[in-house]
Amino acid sequence: MRVRKAISVAGIVQGVGFRPSVYRLAIERRLTGFITNTAAGVSIEIEGEKEAVEEFLAQLPAAAPPLARITEIHVKEIACNHDAEFRILPSRTGEERRALISPDVALCDDCLHEMLDPADRRYRYPFINCTNCGPRYTIVRDIPYDRARTSMAVFAMCANCRREYDDPLDRRFHAQPNACWECGPRVELWDGTGRKIIGDDPIREAAARLADGRIVAVKGLGGFHLAVDATNSDAVARLREAKRRVDKPFAIMAADFAAAEQCCQVDALSAGLLKKPERPIVLLRKKELCPIADAVAPFHHDLGVFLPYTPLHHLLFADGQFRALVMTSGNISEEPIAIENQEALTRLRGIADFFLVHNRDILLRCDDSVARVVGGRVRQARRSRGYVPAPVFLGEDLPPVLAVGGELKNTICLTRSREAFLSQHIGDLENLESYRFFESTIESLKRILEIEPKVLAYDLHPDYFSTRWALAQTGVERVGVQHHHAHIASCMAENHLDGRVIGFALDGTGYGTDGRIWGGELLMATYADFERLAHLDDVPMPGGAAAINEPWRMAVGYLAKYFGEEFLDWDIPFVRQLDQRQVRILLRAVERGVNSPLTSSCGRLFDAVAALVGVRQRVNYEAQAAIELEASIPPDANEDVAYPFDVGEDGTGWIVNPAPMLRALLSDLRAGVPVGVLSRRFHLGLVSALAATAERVRRQCGLDRVCLSGGTFQNVFLFENLVRHLTAAGFKVFTHAEVPAGDGGLSLGQALVAAHRVRRD
Ligand code: ZN
Ligand code: ZN
Ligand code: FE
Repeated sequence: MRVRKAISVAGIVQGVGFRPSVYRLAIERRLTGFITNTAAGVSIEIEGEKEAVEEFLAQLPAAAPPLARITEIHVKEIACNHDAEFRILPSRTGEERRALISPDVALCDDCLHEMLDPADRRYRYPFINCTNCGPRYTIVRDIPYDRARTSMAVFAMCANCRREYDDPLDRRFHAQPNACWECGPRVELWDGTGRKIIGDDPIREAAARLADGRIVAVKGLGGFHLAVDATNSDAVARLREAKRRVDKPFAIMAADFAAAEQCCQVDALSAGLLKKPERPIVLLRKKELCPIADAVAPFHHDLGVFLPYTPLHHLLFADGQFRALVMTSGNISEEPIAIENQEALTRLRGIADFFLVHNRDILLRCDDSVARVVGGRVRQARRSRGYVPAPVFLGEDLPPVLAVGGELKNTICLTRSREAFLSQHIGDLENLESYRFFESTIESLKRILEIEPKVLAYDLHPDYFSTRWALAQTGVERVGVQHHHAHIASCMAENHLDGRVIGFALDGTGYGTDGRIWGGELLMATYADFERLAHLDDVPMPGGAAAINEPWRMAVGYLAKYFGEEFLDWDIPFVRQLDQRQVRILLRAVERGVNSPLTSSCGRLFDAVAALVGVRQRVNYEAQAAIELEASIPPDANEDVAYPFDVGEDGTGWIVNPAPMLRALLSDLRAGVPVGVLSRRFHLGLVSALAATAERVRRQCGLDRVCLSGGTFQNVFLFENLVRHLTAAGFKVFTHAEVPAGDGGLSLGQALVAAHRVRRD
C-alpha cells in the first residue's frame, strides 16, 4: 500500500548536513517527496510503500548527522500525490529564520585526514571544514544562516568548492564556510610590530618560534589566544609578566589525547569530554610527574586541558617540537578577548612576539568553555564556545524575556517558548571594553534569534553595570531579581522543577533585600518568590570592597566579632604578621560601622579561614583564597573530624554561627596541626552544619527537594560531601550540569523568576 506522510522536525537541523542525510535515507529506500527548511526546523514529505516509509521514520533519528540535535518530530498522514523523485527544495525566504544556528565545532576526523594527506587538494589548508565541522556562530552576521550572511561572504567559491557545495551527496553540501587554497582565507605571520614575515609557510614559521620559547598570538575561532610552550618555565613566566596575570592558572592545549594523559589523570568521562566536538577546557588532576611548567597553574592540583580544535591548531602541533602549549585568552587581565587583527596588534603589542593572523573575520567573540567531571556528570564552569548558541531546554513555555545577568562572569539570557539562550561568557563588566561587549551581545543575540523581549530581568544590586543598563531601558516590563533567588531558580530551571524547593545559594557576593551583602543563604523558593529561612551569621567586612582582595581583613572581621579585641594578644602566626596599628584603626571603623558592611557571604568565610591558617592574605584573582584552601586538602586524607558550628534561631530564621568552628580551628592551629588537615576539618564542619540546617528547615516546611547553586559549589570537596550528606539524610538533591553554578548561570534564573512574576501579577 502506498502512503504519504508529512513530518516536521525541530531542533538544530539547519547548517549541519541534515537535509543531505534525509535525502540519502529517502533515495536508498526509493521514496519520493521533498525536504525543506522551515521556520522551526525542517519539513519533510515522504511517499512510497508503507513498509519503506515506516522504516524511513524509524531510521530518521539515528540517521541525523553528528551536529544535529532533534528536539521534536511530528508525523501525520496525508494524501499521496505520486511525485516522481525526492528533492531538496530551496527554503522559502523568511521561513528558516527561527531555526537554531549551530555552535562552532572542532575539526572532524574526515577533514583532519584530508588535511594531512599530501594528495588531497586541501593538504595543509588551515580553513578546511565540512557540514560536520568548522566555524558557525562566530562567523554569523545575520540569519538565515547562509554564506552571504557570514564573514565568508567576501570569498567567492572556486568551481571545485562550488561543486561540492551544490551536491546533496557531498560532505560539503551547503557547508557555508567551504573553501580551499584557491578561493579561501589565508594565514600570515606578523612580527611584534605588525610587519608581515616573508617565508614559505607561516604556520611552520610560527611553530618554530613557539618551540623557541617565543609568545605567539594565534587567531582562533572565537578570538585570539596567546600561545607559549607550556613546558618552558621562562617563557611561561614572561607571558605572566607581560599579561599582568600574577598566578591565575593558564589552560594548556595538549598536542593530542596521549599528551593530555601524560600531564593529567584522565578518567573515562573526562576522556570523552576532551574529545567532544565542543572541545571545552577540561579541568583534570595533575599527575605527579607532570611535564608542564609549575608556573602554568601554581598552587593548584588541577590543570585546564583541551585538545586542538581548528585546522590551524593541528598544523601547529604537527610542525612544532612541543607537546603542549599554554593557550590563554588574548587580552590583558579581565578584558574581553581580542578578535580583529589590528585590534590584537594594538592591544597585545608588547605581549606577543609574533602574530599568526588570517583574513576570515571573527564576528562574534567567544571564549573557550570550561567544564569538569564531578560526581559522574559533566559540569560547566564556563559555557561558551562550542555550546553557544544552543539553547537550554526548559520544562515550560516562557514569554520572551531578556535577563542581563550579574556583574562578574556575566552572561545574558534570552527566552523563546521552551528555549533559553544563554550567551557566551561576557566576563567582568567592570571595564569599558566588556561593557561594550555586553551591549553588542544583547543586540546580536536578539537579531539572530529574532527575539524582541517583553520582559527585562536584572539583579537588585544598584551599582551593577547590567542593572544600570536595564534601568535605562524603556518600553519593556522590568523585574528586579534577588541574586540568590536567581541562582536557585537557575538550578530549578535546568532540572525542570516546579513548585517549592529548599535552595542553598553559596557564593561570594549578592545584594540582599535588606541591603546587606548575602552569600551563605538557605532559601525556600518557587520561581516567583522566596523566603530566607537560614543564613551564615553576618560579620563585618573591614574596609568594604578591599576585604574581597585582602582575605586577612575578613579574618580580622571574624575574630573581632566573636572574640573582641583580645585576639590581638594571641600568639599565632596570623596575628603576629598583622600591622597592629592599622588593625586598631580598622576595628574603630568597624565599631562605628564605617566602611564595614555586614555580610553573610560563604566566600568571605572561606577567605577568613584561608587567611587564618596562612594559605593566603591577599588574592590576585576572584576566589583565589578559597580555591587554594580547597587545594591544600591532602588527596589521600580519610579522617572524618569536622569542626562544630552552632545552628540557632534568632527570630528571623536559622543562623549558622561559625564561632565554635573558629575556636576549634585556633586550638588546632596552636597545636601545630598541618594546614591541609585544618582545611579538611573546616570543610567537613561546614558540610555538617549546612546539612543540619537543611534538616531543621525540612522539619519546618516539609520539603525534601534541595537545589545547590552559587559559585562556592565549584569547590569539588564541599560539593561532593554536601551532596553525599544530604542524599544520606533522604533529600532529593538537584545540581547544575549544563549551566554553570556560578554567576555565569545567573541570567537563566533571572529570566525564570521574571517570567513567573509577570505571569502572576
Ligand atoms: Zn569536517
Ligand atoms: Zn575553493
Ligand atoms: Fe553569585
